[in-house]
Amino acid sequence: MSWKGLIHKYKKFLPVTDKTPIITLQEGNTPLLLSRYLSEKIGLDVYLKYDGANPTGSFKDRGMTMAISKAVEKGVKAVMCASTGNTSASAAAFSARCGLKCIVLIPEGNIALGKLAQAMIHNAQVIAIKGNFDVALNLVKTITDEYPIELVNSLNPFRIEGQKTAPFEICDFLSDAPIFHSIPVGNAGNITAYWKGYKEYKDKKLSTRLPKMLGFQAAKSAPIVDEKIIENPETIATAIRIGNPASWETATAARDESGGLIDKVTDDEILLAYKILAREEGVFVEPASAASVAGILKLNEAGYFKGQKGNIVCTLTGHGLKDPNLAVESIQKPIVIEPDLKTVIKEIGL
Ligand SMILES: *Cc1c(COP(=O)(O)O)cnc(C)c1O
Repeated sequence: MSWKGLIHKYKKFLPVTDKTPIITLQEGNTPLLLSRYLSEKIGLDVYLKYDGANPTGSFKDRGMTMAISKAVEKGVKAVMCASTGNTSASAAAFSARCGLKCIVLIPEGNIALGKLAQAMIHNAQVIAIKGNFDVALNLVKTITDEYPIELVNSLNPFRIEGQKTAPFEICDFLSDAPIFHSIPVGNAGNITAYWKGYKEYKDKKLSTRLPKMLGFQAAKSAPIVDEKIIENPETIATAIRIGNPASWETATAARDESGGLIDKVTDDEILLAYKILAREEGVFVEPASAASVAGILKLNEAGYFKGQKGNIVCTLTGHGLKDPNLAVESIQKPIVIEPDLKTVIKEIGL
């Protein structure tokens, strides 16, 4: 049967009715890849849930198909979000698909080029503010409270509903939930959604167990780990450069109920995992996504998985082409030579 998008597939788990207009780009159904390199290194089967393969290149499409469908059902004419980039790219695309006006507030200078390009080409009204994500989100909350504009950040409960379908797919593919689930944590909506999804599938007896949730923040943007708001969060992983997560409490609940942990990884650890995924597995992700893999490598070094059996799933949240500058800057540039056969052969080393 052809794939018609995640609302169609998981309708009975979602707050939609026959009257809900389904706005879809056929998101979801993303690859779950067995990583040979990581499995050998850690001694458990490590799977990569490659959500960068969604239509706009990040998992945000899962939540956005729900949020935009419900906004259209409600009859609003405009939606708004604050964004480190991917939420605005997704909101802009789904809004374009159904003729909604889309307004996005972004932190000036801290948006990866690919994401900015997406919001602009889909004709969103893009406004950069001289402040960070947390400041932008507070402005959006106030405006959407006072005007007939729908908020489509992950505070919108329909976003979480759509995003919980990723664990459904994982359980369907593996025939059960994994033992561990590793995930980057920024505003903490996604870890909240995964935990909700895993619990619902087990309640419905579609899986037999719950994974331990392993969340990872960037070292200088780790409010949950440090147990305090970070006023000026820093990291190359701009998608998780967040100092005051909106879903803080539900993220710590996921950690505690599952018997997992939330830890932090440095930018160097993130960059190393980013390169490992590209070189060893052929999977190009944006730096924030690599935090889930950096995290399990760090835990492995500390002996966390010793004596454990079974599997780990790592969510890879976004595509590497979102942030091409970083890729080019972090690798040695190609050398330039004369266009002559002998010189080229010599350079290749034949
Ligand atoms: C949004 C995003 C995150 C963070 O997800 P939260 O739900 O905010 O925790 C991580 N990686 C990428 C690529 C993202 O777009």
